[in-house]
Amino acid sequence: MTPFLQLIGFGLLAATGNIVGGFLITRARATNQRLLNYLIALGAGFMLGAVFLEVIPEVALQWNNDLIKPMGLALAGYLLIQFVEHTIAPHFHFGEETHSDEMLRRGVALTAVIALSVHTFFDGVAIASGLLTNFQLGLLLFIAIALHKIPEGFTVASIMLSSGRGHQAALRATALIAAATFAGIILTFVLRPAVIYTLPFSAGVTLYVAASDLIPEVNRKSRYGGDARTSLLVFAGVALFYLAHLMLHDALE
Ligand SMILES: [Zn+2]
Ligand SMILES: [Zn+2]
Repeated sequence: MTPFLQLIGFGLLAATGNIVGGFLITRARATNQRLLNYLIALGAGFMLGAVFLEVIPEVALQWNNDLIKPMGLALAGYLLIQFVEHTIAPHFHFGEETHSDEMLRRGVALTAVIALSVHTFFDGVAIASGLLTNFQLGLLLFIAIALHKIPEGFTVASIMLSSGRGHQAALRATALIAAATFAGIILTFVLRPAVIYTLPFSAGVTLYVAASDLIPEVNRKSRYGGDARTSLLVFAGVALFYLAHLMLHDALE
């Protein structure tokens, strides 16, 4: 299979995750909530493993250990998401949106959705940058990102619903963030000579999503839910990453 077809496949699967998450909000809530929290925790751990043990070593290799520039790009990627999700958007957090008062204020829901689509655009850039580097990196980044795609769709749909909009609008917003993921993949493929820059930049974005979007949600859940199980799944996510990493090394050598 050519890298382009692999990318289309990864893109479609990731986008489907968003759509599934959007649909879930119209279904029975309680059981789904717990499952989504587990996915958020697993995804965060897997992403941390992928960034620290897979992407940064690869970047060091590509840049001959001259890391000031690529680490600057990673920092810029991290700060970009702080800027769009928490500076421009007045109210955004991962997980179910329950603060209807906030969301009913004019434009708040809309800026939150736009902020999230900037983040999902770079989810796509990360997957494509990985795959254009090598298949193993692409597959591991795809799994890392795919794990939080359903909670992401759920998040955006709940933002629309608590702003007083209907199910149609919720699904349209879900389709928007799915399309943004796909657009990130396609644009990175078109601009593939730039992958040496987009890989560290999107690693910074992925680090932000894991450590500053997902982990706070995990911690909030264990604080109010009163059990450490969700937090333990972060470690399980790292272990799962390492297992996948070992299996891929064996399979591809
Ligand atoms: Zn809220
Ligand atoms: Zn994402």
